[in-house]
Amino acid sequence: MLSSAVPAPGLPRIPLSEPVIRGNEWQYVRQCLDTGWISSAGKFVDRFEREFAAYLGAPHAVAVTSGTAALHLALLAAGVRPGDEVLVSTLTFIAPANAIRYSGAVPVLVDADPDTWQMDVKRVVAFLDACRDTADGLINPASGRRVAAVLPVHVLGHPVDLAPLLDAARRHRLKVIEDATESLGAEVCGRPTGALGDVGCFSFNGNKLLTSGGGGMVVCADADIARRVRYLSTQAKDDPVEYVHEEVGFNYRLTNMQAAVGCAQLEQIEAFLAAKLQIAARYREALAGRPGLALMPHASWARPMFWLYTVLITGGSRAVMRAMADAGIESRPLWQCLHLNAPYRDCQLLGGEVAVALQRDALSLPSSVNLNEADQERVIASLLGALSR
Ligand SMILES: *Cc1c(COP(=O)(O)O)cnc(C)c1O
Repeated sequence: MLSSAVPAPGLPRIPLSEPVIRGNEWQYVRQCLDTGWISSAGKFVDRFEREFAAYLGAPHAVAVTSGTAALHLALLAAGVRPGDEVLVSTLTFIAPANAIRYSGAVPVLVDADPDTWQMDVKRVVAFLDACRDTADGLINPASGRRVAAVLPVHVLGHPVDLAPLLDAARRHRLKVIEDATESLGAEVCGRPTGALGDVGCFSFNGNKLLTSGGGGMVVCADADIARRVRYLSTQAKDDPVEYVHEEVGFNYRLTNMQAAVGCAQLEQIEAFLAAKLQIAARYREALAGRPGLALMPHASWARPMFWLYTVLITGGSRAVMRAMADAGIESRPLWQCLHLNAPYRDCQLLGGEVAVALQRDALSLPSSVNLNEADQERVIASLLGALSR
């Protein structure tokens, strides 16, 4: 078994996460092409919105061009204004922080919780409780700015500990915007992530659980927020016929062809989720108790979906990553913490040491839903071989 950890010419490369197109994608895209309904309106856009909302048990869903666009419009529709502050984890893909900036607001960066690797909710609650409640809203005493929202990002498929966060947000009358892209299908408090806060955002980029090529979705219970997102996504057009605009909008609508792919992918979501759980179970079984290696967390209150199965390698993950790459196996570190990226270096940071240590040690392993058992054995052997050297 261990011999396969040696670079073996001829063995196929194992990707980190690749889309699996094996349902009605061709048939639905063909319908778009055959009927001429290829652009930003059509029955697949409506259907994708309807079926995605139903899947999450949410009243409204609005399809947009990307996950980043979803976050941008969610922030605007939730009432975030220029000069406001929004709390977000420092250990995340950069898109949510960029979206905060697009809205003119300023991120306050939060350390990761060592038990879940997610936004440290205890730090968030302590921060909010130390703010001043005024007639103008909740004021951060350190900056004098209004705190407008909290943006928990459920990273890698494990949920953020949302119950205490929602509780504190309600107490301080703050909006909670979930970035549930990486946790589509995960649950907490018996409900799906993305449908727990005021607004939920999703991306359908190529490496997510579901893909539409590119695309995103905003999900919410509030009809006014949904209307506002839809309005802003279509250039803020105020009249169905006349081109009249009261404000600056965006061209953020998903095309019918992309929605067609999304609809076909959504039909397969249960199989995709089952595959992710099985991949996680196999990694857990093979890697538990190995010295120098820690498994991905699984909190007792959470039902994760393990989008990318990720381990910690004591002392740093990059040497193992390089050894696996030599064996034709793609693995990936976590994102550089936001507070270490130039645009966010000056942001207020709550803690940060846990996130930096996770960024040094974490390694995401191949987790495509079509990863077969033999290939996963190869990944495991390669990882253990590199660890022992
Ligand atoms: C991929 C991703 C995004 C960005 O989505 P795009 O569709 O590429 O704009 C946002 N947030 C998270 C957590 C992601 O993983």
